[in-house]
Amino acid sequence: MSGFLKVTGVVPGMDWPAVPNPRGAQLLALQMQLEQSQWLPAEEIAQLQREQRHLIAVHASRHVPFYQQLWSAQVIEPEESLSDEEWQLLPVVSRGAIQQFPGGVTPRVRLPRHGPTYQGFTSGSTGRPLQTAGNTVTQLMWSALSLRNHLWHRHDFSGKMLGIRAGSGDTPQPLQRHDNWGLGTNDLIRTGPGVTLDVRTPINELAAILREENPDYLNTYPSVVAELARHALSQDWKLPRLREVRTFGEILEESTRSICRRAWQTTISDCYSSQEAGYIALQCPQHEHYHVQSESILVEILNDQGLLCAPGQIGRVVLTTLLNFDFPLIRYDTGDFAEAGASCDCGRGLPVLKRIVGRQRNMAILPNGDRLWPSLDLDAQGLDYMPPVLQFQMIQRSLERVELRIVPGRPFSVEDEAMVRHWVQQALTYPFEVQIAYLDEIPRGAGGKYEDFRCEVTLPDEPTEVSLQDPCLSNYVAR
Ligand SMILES: [Zn+2]
Repeated sequence: MSGFLKVTGVVPGMDWPAVPNPRGAQLLALQMQLEQSQWLPAEEIAQLQREQRHLIAVHASRHVPFYQQLWSAQVIEPEESLSDEEWQLLPVVSRGAIQQFPGGVTPRVRLPRHGPTYQGFTSGSTGRPLQTAGNTVTQLMWSALSLRNHLWHRHDFSGKMLGIRAGSGDTPQPLQRHDNWGLGTNDLIRTGPGVTLDVRTPINELAAILREENPDYLNTYPSVVAELARHALSQDWKLPRLREVRTFGEILEESTRSICRRAWQTTISDCYSSQEAGYIALQCPQHEHYHVQSESILVEILNDQGLLCAPGQIGRVVLTTLLNFDFPLIRYDTGDFAEAGASCDCGRGLPVLKRIVGRQRNMAILPNGDRLWPSLDLDAQGLDYMPPVLQFQMIQRSLERVELRIVPGRPFSVEDEAMVRHWVQQALTYPFEVQIAYLDEIPRGAGGKYEDFRCEVTLPDEPTEVSLQDPCLSNYVAR
């Protein structure tokens, strides 16, 4: 019974309908509200967000020194909520500004009813990690949105979920077994088993375990899906029970969706989340685009002038965490870029992100200074004779030169090398000098994440990280 919520009860003799334990009851109470709010008209959702963002802005202006200094000219009165125009005058905050401020965005006064606080760290793929904080409320909301994701995609809760994720410590951790899928279902639904693997496990071993475990759902980074699917096609193995692949943590390319279909006849549902903000957007149940999780987060897609992007335009993802009073991010520049979408015909009023395109460092710079998002599709048309590639990564080293790191499926001939050079130049729309480096394995970055393309060129007039005292901070204020 896909998507049916068979609740685990704690009252003896009452199996269906059932009464869950207190945490399960809270999760279910939130879920009922989420079930309703997703169908509200966009303007009603926006109004509810205005009221909620006011609560956290008042908290920040009273208790968070970072915002007190940042907003010194503007006091936020409890009785008077900001209009959208006033809201858009609040400065956009960079990660660097929070890192440089003593104590970051930690409030001086906590709200005890939000439960004990816990600390976390972002993976720090840009260099220094950022210390984050959450509490019982944010964890409950994370769980509720996980459950919403299961319900949206009609997951069969009796199935086996296999996750491949970042591990800690110096060596890959061994396989772990769980009797429940995790926070989104724990205390509420009896699920099938969960299995977790460390992403640093060698690919041959991952493939062998995956075949042995034969899961119903695979949950991991898009780059791992692509690598495993290429392995499956080259070694001719299937996952007969697999019903859906779920991805997170990296940009999902169309080519990964297509290779997943070819290898296992399975679709992918992606989610867009971050360590500092939790779930940002989930893939629509009926389309490949994403719905912003407006009950937890306010997302603004801003162009270079700091104005809201229209559907079809790509801009910076700037967000406000509406419920995290221990780590309030207000108009926080994530460093990600996304394309704003038009409203969705599924009927949900939650705003649409057409696609997440990456971070600034994932953009190529052409010699004339133009930037572009590379189209890194190994199955691109016109490349019929592409030699087998198990893994690749492009690093732009200068305005004229790109390094292509490659794990080849077999030793490459001169013709093969010419073909992959042509592929790189086509993806970047410019005849770059392409240096090929052959590797046995391409290592992952911080937090287990992988980037297909990274640009290491900085243009001379480009600001890097902006700080709180930096006048650049007001660059993104709407005018
Ligand atoms: Zn939709």
